[in-house]
Amino acid sequence: MLLARQLDKLYDATLALLYPQACAACDDGHVERRADAPACAACWQQTRIFTGAETCCWKCGALALGEVTADERESVRCRRCDAAAYTSARAIGMYEGALRASVLTLKREAHVGARLARLLCATQRRPPLDAATLIAPVPLHPERERERGFNQATLLARALAQQTGLPLDEWSCARITHTPQHRAGMDARARHETVAAAFQVTRPRLIAGERVLLIDDVFTTGATVAACAHALKEAGAADVFVLTVARA
Ligand SMILES: [Zn+2]
Ligand SMILES: [Zn+2]
Repeated sequence: MLLARQLDKLYDATLALLYPQACAACDDGHVERRADAPACAACWQQTRIFTGAETCCWKCGALALGEVTADERESVRCRRCDAAAYTSARAIGMYEGALRASVLTLKREAHVGARLARLLCATQRRPPLDAATLIAPVPLHPERERERGFNQATLLARALAQQTGLPLDEWSCARITHTPQHRAGMDARARHETVAAAFQVTRPRLIAGERVLLIDDVFTTGATVAACAHALKEAGAADVFVLTVARA
């Protein structure tokens, strides 16, 4: 074990010397450890990563002001998310620094870094997401997936399934309409309407009774995951939880 770790360090040092990889989050940093890719250690250090001790809406995960006791934590609500079909949504941290760089890099490169995978796993293991029984990625429309070559949410879901040992269902939920990219200036309601009817569960038998953990890269308004959660609940899912890399 010790030898393996030393060899790993040596490999990292050699690789960094021969092929220095620029940090995707800052101008002058380099990725010192493969596990940290695509960001440097300093950028990871400066990125707000949630610990589970924050005061936040227990349902959607929106940060709230003030402090509450551990007993009160589950009763905190922002009330803006009341209508959403999911049970609870959480993210690794804020959409900034190393997490933002990870999300943007994952749109181009089909690789989930080891540090990102570990953080996904740590977030899933905390309440309320620890109740999940099945992992499912938010699907991309097939046309968009063909353009990109992969669905980044699927890559995240696979990495999480590997870390946690939870079963993965990549196919039961499908995107049936090709929603246009959200335009700047589109309000929450307009976004909601463009995605409301976008998802269909093709194999409800595999979803029924499950506590599904939906995976996506960014939680912005939550409209996409709420629409997907709605379809899963209609198909008989007992609960739908949401885990994203970052919260915008
Ligand atoms: Zn950096
Ligand atoms: Zn909320």
